[in-house]
Amino acid sequence: MNWITNYVRPRINSLFSRREVPENLWTKCPECGTMLFHRELSDNLNVCTSCDHHLAISPRDRFAALFDGGVFLDVKVPEPIADPLQFRDQKKYPDRMKAAQKATGEKEAMLVAEGEIGRTPIIAAAQDFSFMGGSMGMYVGNAIIAAAERAVKTKRPLVLFSAAGGARMQEGILSLMQMPRTTVAVEMLREAGLPYIVVLTHPTTGGVTASYAMLGDIQIAEPNALICFAGPRVIEQTIREKLPEGFQRAEYLLEHGMLDRVTHRKQLRDELVSILRLLGRMPAPTRADLPAPVAPSVQPEPAPAD
Ligand SMILES: [Zn+2]
Repeated sequence: MNWITNYVRPRINSLFSRREVPENLWTKCPECGTMLFHRELSDNLNVCTSCDHHLAISPRDRFAALFDGGVFLDVKVPEPIADPLQFRDQKKYPDRMKAAQKATGEKEAMLVAEGEIGRTPIIAAAQDFSFMGGSMGMYVGNAIIAAAERAVKTKRPLVLFSAAGGARMQEGILSLMQMPRTTVAVEMLREAGLPYIVVLTHPTTGGVTASYAMLGDIQIAEPNALICFAGPRVIEQTIREKLPEGFQRAEYLLEHGMLDRVTHRKQLRDELVSILRLLGRMPAPTRADLPAPVAPSVQPEPAPAD
């Protein structure tokens, strides 16, 4: 103990901790570093107002912006057995679950809902990357099956938003079994002649990419989303070669025929409505179905009279 630890360090610590911005007010854009006010950010669907980077958005916020009037009903998902392997790393699996539930306010890493978008009835499922990396465990498998069953029962298309670090290691082989289970669920939709649309969001990786996330009739991705099985760092270390610019990003995959569209989050809803109505042989969306275009803030100059 000396004066440095007793006096100087606490002073330095207090100086730095005082400068910390409260987490609930500001978010730093991971791409350009701009500090974004949380309300402004959520009004902009969690897209950076400075560089257009698409930050993560919670399934509930996404659904609120997606469904007409923000109205949707949760589809019930059967509960799987909790902690079947009694898994423990630094923390027990049930403790990790409790922490994730507390942080996100959700039960698990996927939310399933039904409602209408642009007056088109759909079932939607969205994965939550902030819930244990959106990892695919038994619950996520059950959620996709519940979504597919509900879609078949109500004859509605299924729109799925993927975001995942892969399978949930705490459930071992049981999480990997969700790959064939969800593939069968997608097959149910195909047999019923119902469209299945996947929107890949940043990041979609591992076993999720190797199953339901790449089986859509239409594959859409959000800009600059990382979509891969093994990540670029792993590949680079394995083959010991530098990977090309933008490798495994949405635009790169679009260019190489892996995707159908890369769509900005703000245009996504209208685009989904158009695609769903086209596939469902419904009349094209009218002004009443889509939100009216925003009036330009600057009035154009009147044309000079001849
Ligand atoms: Zn930014």
